[in-house]
Amino acid sequence: MAHHSWAEPYKIKMVELIKMTSREEREKAIREAGYNTFLLRSEDVYIDLLTDSGVGAMSDQQWAGMMLGDEAYAGSRNFYHLRDTVEEYYSYRYTVPTHQGRGAENILSQILIEPGDFVPGNMYFTTTRLHQELAGATFVDVIIDEAHDPVSEHPFKGNVDFAKLDALVERVGAGHIPYVCIATCVNMAGGQPISLENLRRLRKWCDQHDIMLVHDMTRVAENAYFIQQREHGQQDRSIREIVHEICSLTDAATMSSKKDAMVNIGGFLAMNDPGFYEKACALVVVYEGLHTYGGMAGRDMEALAIGITESVQDDHIRARVGQVEYLGQKLIAGGVPVVQPIGGHAVFLDARRILPHIPQEQFPAQALAAALYEESGVRSMERGVVSAGRDAATGENHMPKLELVRLTIPRRVYTQAHMDVTAEAVFSVMEKAEAIQGLRFTYEPEMLRFFQARFEPVA
Ligand SMILES: *Cc1c(COP(=O)(O)O)cnc(C)c1O
Repeated sequence: MAHHSWAEPYKIKMVELIKMTSREEREKAIREAGYNTFLLRSEDVYIDLLTDSGVGAMSDQQWAGMMLGDEAYAGSRNFYHLRDTVEEYYSYRYTVPTHQGRGAENILSQILIEPGDFVPGNMYFTTTRLHQELAGATFVDVIIDEAHDPVSEHPFKGNVDFAKLDALVERVGAGHIPYVCIATCVNMAGGQPISLENLRRLRKWCDQHDIMLVHDMTRVAENAYFIQQREHGQQDRSIREIVHEICSLTDAATMSSKKDAMVNIGGFLAMNDPGFYEKACALVVVYEGLHTYGGMAGRDMEALAIGITESVQDDHIRARVGQVEYLGQKLIAGGVPVVQPIGGHAVFLDARRILPHIPQEQFPAQALAAALYEESGVRSMERGVVSAGRDAATGENHMPKLELVRLTIPRRVYTQAHMDVTAEAVFSVMEKAEAIQGLRFTYEPEMLRFFQARFEPVA
């Protein structure tokens, strides 16, 4: 078949200038930031690949929507537009807006979890697991083993292992499992998708055991793209159709709309059950705001409704994932160890293989992210032992198999030339890998420590 190049399905109307800093400036900046890229100032960053959260470029349509904000305290027109869009594109009947994804996770966890419960999921996510634990549950990882192996080329590393689910039911009983939490395009596994076949089987499994199925739908469109590209019989379906089917296989969803839906802030909790909706409305007023705005301004709900429709366009998602793939292939060609296959939102450097001389207790991925910034001004983030945190019961560090640095690509923000410069920065840091030192904590926050922890070189 003839290969056709693709180009971004947009042109640029407004630009934001960025500036390169000197090595001296960067050495000072990262030292002052305690070797944590989250504590750098944005103005000290050249290419910002910290996250894809809330940093996408909105379209002219979304900006126009901002002018249509109905900022009434109750019953905003934009809420009804958002609710109808969620139902049309994602199938869920009820929508409760929240300030962002973790606001939805908090409400969901408080309603569904009883202390002593267990919540299985296809790998943990930082805020998701924390809210489960704060509500009294224990998270149980039921993702397939391949997901923990950075060199496995399994096309659907986000899949659930049913033997692990069955073993959990055997051990604790279905009555202590309020729901299964399934993420599409699993962030912590490297942006890896779950297959439609696996999800359909999971739906049946949940029905058999009378357990709810909850969807962390933060990156559902990217997952749908991988299904379209890789799964038998899905090639002729649109992203929109596949997204709708994925959602309709689940009972409820939490959404961080700062990702797929390309808004700077916002999220929601969505569900089909009216009793669950009623409870969510009662709790959202405690933590977020009235049930017709949650934590969002009317204009933000309007931009979100429009962003949802743009996020499921085939040409959009091909270019979005294509850009990540472009960077990934460039790094692979240069001999850089990365998680494969390349994920939907980011390229993950395998810090274990790049820095074999640094033991996991000295945070190799944290050290690599700091070194990459020092070398080039490219900001990335750690996804390894620092992000994994400590076991709630024992206080010991979780020691994840994956010790990764995430180069996260914001949607519609950077060009192919920025990807080239980023790849060259990684090559330079690889050449100096042996000189990179491990780190130790000088400050360790109790919860979600990766955001604000500070370090110093072990020396
Ligand atoms: C970002 C994210 C969240 C949390 O959303 P926020 O909007 O940052 O609160 C939850 N799950 C996944 C998979 C995410 O990537």
